[in-house]
Amino acid sequence: MAPLVERRPEGLYCPAGDFYIDPWRPVERAVITHAHADHARGGHQHYLSHVDAAQMLKTRLGGAISLQTLNYGEVIKLGGVQLSLHPAGHVLGSSQIRMVHQGQVWVVSGDYKIEAEPSCQAFEPLRCDVFVTESTFALPIYCWEPQSMVIEQISAWWQANAAKGIYSVLYTYSLGKAQRLAMALPDGPVWVHPAVDAIHACYRNAGRKIPLMPCWRGEQKPPAGSLLLVPPAIADSSALSRLAGYEDASVSGWMRLRGIRKRRALDRGFVMSDHADWQGLLWAIRQTGAQKIFVTHGQVDVLVRYLCEQGLDAAPLQALGWGEDV
Ligand SMILES: [Zn+2]
Ligand SMILES: [Zn+2]
Repeated sequence: MAPLVERRPEGLYCPAGDFYIDPWRPVERAVITHAHADHARGGHQHYLSHVDAAQMLKTRLGGAISLQTLNYGEVIKLGGVQLSLHPAGHVLGSSQIRMVHQGQVWVVSGDYKIEAEPSCQAFEPLRCDVFVTESTFALPIYCWEPQSMVIEQISAWWQANAAKGIYSVLYTYSLGKAQRLAMALPDGPVWVHPAVDAIHACYRNAGRKIPLMPCWRGEQKPPAGSLLLVPPAIADSSALSRLAGYEDASVSGWMRLRGIRKRRALDRGFVMSDHADWQGLLWAIRQTGAQKIFVTHGQVDVLVRYLCEQGLDAAPLQALGWGEDV
């Protein structure tokens, strides 16, 4: 049977439905798994996404884009394909794409996270014949602690800084990680960068209970001991240097690698990711019961080799153009 999804220069393409998934070059019809910039690019004629991603897509790509939205589990027909979106647990509105054509079921995972937490709907394992999985953290060294433990570590660091009368500056992705932290951090003065504030508003409009946090525009001085949620891009900015006394830290799966933490000259690194870790990837793949697994977006060769050693039929589906979330 012909593959339901193939790789073209524009991105992953479904010939039977005549649409692309997260294409990186302009196309007629784009199905978008989630609003991170390396998945949701500008220039497409028509967009399709989960309803909770709509405001973020419009904020990022312009209010005039042609955008159709679906709820999870709602089925539509595109050409000869029945398409539905299912929770990927990665960020608000993130979706796995399920496609059915002539009795074949394919699922493209997009980015996904296994641990459930209240900032977005939890990952839903789906049975399918063919599973296209991401592999961002597909190495055995990537093994996440439960979120509650990481939050305890961050809280202890914040408290120690506050006792010294200095700020705690936390670098975090504006979309996803920042909202996850905002909902999980203990009470206390937390200020957010305008980029984070804008995404907080999208989450609140979608019904997520993000606590209100003052916006830090770089001029004001938050009360001593405050914690600041800011995007990594503002490290070493003049606004930060005006704060005088602070410690900084990053919250990311990449903090598992000591070399990265050192290179960025951070005071601390907290290991927490919006992607599945090694065991999480293997668990999700087993849940699908798929006969064929295509691997994309990350440590492709490692995961393909491991799955083949386990007797599974796995192969790379390289998707150039997808990178680290921004
Ligand atoms: Zn992402
Ligand atoms: Zn991604």
